[in-house]
Amino acid sequence: MTILITGGGGFIGSHLVDHLLEETGERILVLDNFSTGSPANIRHIDDDRLAVRDGDVRDDQTVENVVSGVDSIYHLAAAVGVEHVVENPLASLRTNLHGTENVLEAAREHDVPTFLASSSEVYGKSEAVPFSEADDRVLGPTSVPRWGYAAAKATDEFLALSYHETYDLPVTVGRYFNIVGPRQTGKYGMVIPTFVEQALSGEPLTVYGDGTQTRSFTHVADAVELTHELLETPEAHGEVFNVGAPDPTSITDLAERVIELTGSDSEITHVPFEEAFGENFEEPDQREPDVSKLQSVLGWAPEADLDRILEDVIEEQSELHPKVI
Ligand code: UDP
Repeated sequence: MTILITGGGGFIGSHLVDHLLEETGERILVLDNFSTGSPANIRHIDDDRLAVRDGDVRDDQTVENVVSGVDSIYHLAAAVGVEHVVENPLASLRTNLHGTENVLEAAREHDVPTFLASSSEVYGKSEAVPFSEADDRVLGPTSVPRWGYAAAKATDEFLALSYHETYDLPVTVGRYFNIVGPRQTGKYGMVIPTFVEQALSGEPLTVYGDGTQTRSFTHVADAVELTHELLETPEAHGEVFNVGAPDPTSITDLAERVIELTGSDSEITHVPFEEAFGENFEEPDQREPDVSKLQSVLGWAPEADLDRILEDVIEEQSELHPKVI
């Protein structure tokens, strides 16, 4: 048996590769163009069962070739990070729309069970926390590129559910809520690696806006375990699930906790959103998953353990930059 992981060179994808190699006896095939992912994320793996194909999900022939020999698919290849998406709106839309359609079409042709990675961004700026899978979504105008990402991910979900409905394709959608942990880079704007790096090097922590916005951070180890279980559970096919830890933290509290845990002398500085992202930007104020559906189908959901997440990230970054502490 062979499992395909698109985006297996990325942050979440590489943890999923580790998890599946450890938990299953299957071969793993990674398809990644290493645009935002990195070969370094999987370089530590010394296992004959892993094969890596450098290729792009936007290329239908490449996708058809890799899917033809596999038994299940985790489709994680996607444009990543708000900063990256805002700076590269067209490429992000193409990857998220065309790439996903290619994967689903090849999955249909070869009848391969598929997990689709979606995002809590699909809830947009809804304030009806906690967000439940069947809730209304609230997106802003098309002039704001961030909502293009949310709309593309939602369209991916429509596609997946339609492939299930029309062709009976076993496909499950997971909406990831701020997945964090070791190997995540701050390069695309993600807050935890950014704050930890700033704290370890004594620079000010850049809190965007007033810092009252909340996020529900979820350890990548929980995310990949849930991802695996969701694809393996027939009851989950044709369904959408929140994948997140239901315990929101404000960004100011997060910054303070990072300073505390690193023992840093760094200060907190507030950066207006316009300065960080330009004028055409909107920010979800609150984000929190309702995990009752996940609980009822899988029997468990992540518990927020922000300190463990932070400790893991701090430990990794301290090893990478031993001189800064
Ligand atoms: N954020 C911040 N400073 C940074 C990077 C991010 O205050 O240097 C904030 C960002 O505005 C958001 C939260 O941290 O409210 C999480 O940002 P991230 O990009 O990690 O994920 P998002 O939830 O925006 O997709």
